[in-house]
Amino acid sequence: MPAPPRDPLEAPSIGRWIDRSRRRHFTTLGIAVVLLGTAHLFGAQIDWRAYVVFGAWAVANAVVSPWAARPLDQHLRLRRYALTLAMDVLFLGAAYLFVDGAEIIGAVFFAHQALVGSATLPRKWAIGIAGLIVAVFSSLVISSALGVVAVPSPIGANRLVGNWSFVAASITSAIAMVVVVMHLQVQLVRSIRDVEERYVTLVQSAADMVITFDATGRFLEVNPATLELTGYTWNEIKQLPNTTFFPKADWAAVVDAFRRALAGETLRFDVRVVRKDGAERWVQATTSPVTLDGRSAVLVIARDTTDARLQTEALRERDARLKVVLGALNVGFLTFDRDHRVTAAFGSWARKEETRGVLLIGRRLRDVLAMGTVVEQHERADERVLGGAEVTVRWTHVTDEGERWYRSHVVPLRAADGTITGGAAIWVDETSMVLAEREREGLRQRVTDTERVESLGKLVSGVAHELNNPLAAILNFTEDLLSDDRSPEERVALEVIQSQALRSRTIVRDLLTYARQGSARPLVAAEPGPILESIARAMRPGLASQGVAFAVELDSSATELMLDRAGFEQIVTNLLTNAAHSAGAGGTVRLSSRLRREWFDVVVEDNGAGIAADVFPRMFEPFFTTKPTGQGVGLGLSVSMGIVNAHRGTLTAANRPTDVGGGARLLVRIPLITASISAGAEASVPERRLSPAKGRVPILEPASGPRAMPQRKPTILIIDDEHAIRHGLKRFLTRRGWVVEESADGADALSKLLRPEALRIYDVILCDLKMAGVSGMDVYDRVKATAPSIARRFVLSTGDTTAPDVAGFLSQVDVPILEKPFELATLETLAEQIRSGGASDMATAGQAPA
Ligand code: ADP
Repeated sequence: MPAPPRDPLEAPSIGRWIDRSRRRHFTTLGIAVVLLGTAHLFGAQIDWRAYVVFGAWAVANAVVSPWAARPLDQHLRLRRYALTLAMDVLFLGAAYLFVDGAEIIGAVFFAHQALVGSATLPRKWAIGIAGLIVAVFSSLVISSALGVVAVPSPIGANRLVGNWSFVAASITSAIAMVVVVMHLQVQLVRSIRDVEERYVTLVQSAADMVITFDATGRFLEVNPATLELTGYTWNEIKQLPNTTFFPKADWAAVVDAFRRALAGETLRFDVRVVRKDGAERWVQATTSPVTLDGRSAVLVIARDTTDARLQTEALRERDARLKVVLGALNVGFLTFDRDHRVTAAFGSWARKEETRGVLLIGRRLRDVLAMGTVVEQHERADERVLGGAEVTVRWTHVTDEGERWYRSHVVPLRAADGTITGGAAIWVDETSMVLAEREREGLRQRVTDTERVESLGKLVSGVAHELNNPLAAILNFTEDLLSDDRSPEERVALEVIQSQALRSRTIVRDLLTYARQGSARPLVAAEPGPILESIARAMRPGLASQGVAFAVELDSSATELMLDRAGFEQIVTNLLTNAAHSAGAGGTVRLSSRLRREWFDVVVEDNGAGIAADVFPRMFEPFFTTKPTGQGVGLGLSVSMGIVNAHRGTLTAANRPTDVGGGARLLVRIPLITASISAGAEASVPERRLSPAKGRVPILEPASGPRAMPQRKPTILIIDDEHAIRHGLKRFLTRRGWVVEESADGADALSKLLRPEALRIYDVILCDLKMAGVSGMDVYDRVKATAPSIARRFVLSTGDTTAPDVAGFLSQVDVPILEKPFELATLETLAEQIRSGGASDMATAGQAPA
């Protein structure tokens, strides 16, 4: 017995139910044929037409059954199915005409057929079919029992035996069948009612709106959720025009959806609904076609999505705000999943990549960014982050704007249950911070350097000062002794003393220059040509005595440079001395100069062994020398470099190609006068400094001309706190016809010079600047303030012209200055010139003779 359908609401199950019935139907037909064949085998008389009937029946079934099962609409399907059953009854009646013993087969067959029909059809159809079966069956049976043959059997047989018992059995079976049919119908009705109830409960309690419209758009049914959401009652809804429920802008969409639903389409769309109180709510509606009571209608199921929309909108706004904030912060931000694929990317970098057409979302960074090591660094960090760690990565990247520094912080992202689903990385551009830190570090370094150089400077200038005085005394005495007639041995010995003292003087001066690198001497406009010529003239005899050939090729244009003249001389002399040393006896040294665009180049070349590869990187270091002990202290090039730098120039060394004779080539480049350098050198100090460079280099020719001899012996006042110096000078000058007076300190000197008769007594005053107590600077200033004409007779001497206080003082005086240790001949010439009134000319001429 077929079970009643469990859930007829579910369309596929109805389909299955009908299919099952169809199969039973076929089976029944098959059983009948089998019974027929069996009876035939056991001797029943079966006419060939019986087989024709069954064949036609089977063919009709094969055609009609699929046709009956085809419609989607279940009612139509059931109706067609009922027709197939009616067809069966008729075929069965026909079979009766031709089958002998059909009363047996027929009873079984009828019973089966009735059961199938009743169990598979709606009640009104089932009752009709069952009635038809009972009626046909009963009339056949009764007529047989009565011996009435309404339709004579074509095979002529009427062999029913025991007719009355057959009648009783048949009618009983028919009645039983009807009882069973009714019972099944009752079950079917109950299950349908259950389903209906379930459906109604579902619709009534649904939170979504469920509405049906007829084809004209009139409301048929609405559920309570619809009333609640719209705020209207059922009566109001029924009467109001449909346009009341939607804003005007949405009407077109609503009408379109309705029409398409009527045409059989199912649509889902968002639309606004206007409540009775005027408020608008967003709903997501699904419209689908339905048939109600045989008529086309439209079913609408709609869900209120207003709150969800507001939430989405709020989220979207927050997202946009976050993007703006991250963009403004100039930070980069991204999240990634466990496969290192980007799930979100914010910040200006992401925008830039997007504008370059790079799709980040869903891709691995290594596949989209050409930043090899940076991506690798981050992938390693991400791996640790996926293991639960928080990682900071510092990285750099070279862009069109130069190198930039970044710091990334990467943290794990977790799901609600704590499992790590990926990570988030945020990075900041630290370039300005890094640069500022470097600047600070550089500044600290410079401050330290300056402090170091300053303390070194103090130390060196102290030492130099202490050494200069004894050196001056040695030189003075030696010079004095050499001016007398001496035996050759004595002369050689004295000359050795003199040359070693001069070497010591050079070392002391280089030390002073090196120590004073920070306090550059003022630059004044000067033509380099004449200076170079005088250096060449001065160097030539020395080089010749060493057996070194000397070629000079100077630029003749009258170009002015901003020069510290003494420094410039010191550089060139150093380079020439080195070149001569390298060239050696038989070698050649060449000094040349040329004007090249905005640079003035001085080139010193030699054809010596050249600069060894291991010397190159160190040759400009202070105290680096390859010369034997006693021949070099390694300050020449470092001092020269310092002076060149103060000129904003460059000093470079290179080896000359071997095909031109090899050797070294040193190039000094001084920029031509520019506005900025000129401005920096406003304090144009008349240059009067005596600065013999490395070696004994008389820079200027001694002044010539007849000396005006006075009537009385000239008097010189020597102010110096060093007894040895006073002693040496006194001995030298006295022997040259001078009256020498001495002062061992500034106070004593002032007491002498501020006397009224001082102007008459002293022709020349030689004053040392650095003295304990009243210094030479104080003496000069006091005398200049009270007796300017005496001040004009001053010659100042000092061991350190670069000491800041001395340099400052010297830049303001306009009398000759001698740098200790000086040569006595120089002093003598100066003293003579002052006495004869030429001192002021000397002062402005720029340089005292050496
Ligand atoms: P010093 O002359 O006291 O050694 P410098 O600073 O002047 O100190 O020179 C440093 C070193 O540079 C020299 O010892 C020498 O090795 C190298 N050097 C300088 N000039 C030349 C040159 N013209 N040819 C070869 N080497 C040179």
